[in-house]
Amino acid sequence: MNSYKVAVLAGDGIGKEIIEANQQVIEACVDATVLDIEWVALPMGWEGIHKEGTPLSEKTKETLQTCDAWILGPHDSAAYPQQFKGERNPSGELRHHFDLFANVRPAKSMQKSNARIRDMDLVIYRENTEGYYVDRNMHTGLGEFKVTEDVVVSTGVFTRKAITRIAEAAFEAAMERRKKVTIVHKANVIRLGTGFFLEICREVADKYPEVDVEDYHIDAMAAHLVRRGGDFDVIVTENMFGDILSDLTGELAGSLGIAPSINTSKTQAMAQAAHGSAPDIEGKNIANPIGMMHSTVMLFEWLAKKHDDERLTRVARKMEESIARTIHRNIVTPDLGGSATTSSFAEAVCAEVANGTEV
Ligand code: ATP
Repeated sequence: MNSYKVAVLAGDGIGKEIIEANQQVIEACVDATVLDIEWVALPMGWEGIHKEGTPLSEKTKETLQTCDAWILGPHDSAAYPQQFKGERNPSGELRHHFDLFANVRPAKSMQKSNARIRDMDLVIYRENTEGYYVDRNMHTGLGEFKVTEDVVVSTGVFTRKAITRIAEAAFEAAMERRKKVTIVHKANVIRLGTGFFLEICREVADKYPEVDVEDYHIDAMAAHLVRRGGDFDVIVTENMFGDILSDLTGELAGSLGIAPSINTSKTQAMAQAAHGSAPDIEGKNIANPIGMMHSTVMLFEWLAKKHDDERLTRVARKMEESIARTIHRNIVTPDLGGSATTSSFAEAVCAEVANGTEV
């Protein structure tokens, strides 16, 4: 392919700040490599509400379908007007609509940062389409019911198809890493639901005899991660457990602000930092853009593999190395103990792109 079409949805809260910083760095890296990217800016969140009367319009979804990949900023859906409260939030809708079944969330301790665990290098494979996230576990409608004024029922959904494909993705990843998978569940209490998750993951494990397999209850896993986070390689778990554990691993590795993620189906991919819209620091120019930037690195690696295009790999490496060199110079945002702003960090990374040797 000569050129790629990449959609960018800035979203809410710190979204505009981190997306702008990210864009600056990608463009510097793309300029340094012979690669043509067409950027498509699309409204999402409050921008969507103001421009199109909805946080995520049908038109936006149709346009996304025509793009090779997407970069999604965070959304502050809790703050949206009442009329949107009964709908899926934008990222839930994108994951559901495009069946982006794998949310891949690495956590690698950053050297020269305030990482609580120094030797952490793991990746969480979070099932992304069902489980306890009721906004995406039904074909139509949401899986929650207010039965009476005083009674609410929230469903969890576990299917063989969804568990099999996330487990396969996790085991395939383990084969390229340290060949170890940890299955996280709560089968002693939620016996049918997460018990089924465990059972199907174990069935998939049988096809990968070279991979060491262990399993933990979600509560014990939280403790093990804090105590010995460096011992884990690939973790596979259901939707909500994965969301919670990845905030924990992000913070243990240095800061939630550095935690990247990618959402994928077999054919499409969306970069999305693991953190939310952080309204408490919005507009202060102190948000850490590294999570967003590393999510983009993951996106380019995914695209490079899909199209067997080495130029995309070079962009990903250039971004990664320039970010690493910037951190090495102690230029980091306040969440990592530094005094850089979001924009000065991006400028420093761009300077490293210009100074760095060709990769
Ligand atoms: P969501 O439910 O959408 O994941 P949330 O409300 O649970 O979002 P976040 O928005 O992720 O939580 O914020 C959690 C904490 O982490 C906040 O104190 C926030 O300021 C901090 N934080 C999140 N992202 C960043 C970032 N990129 N840089 C610095 N701090 C961040």
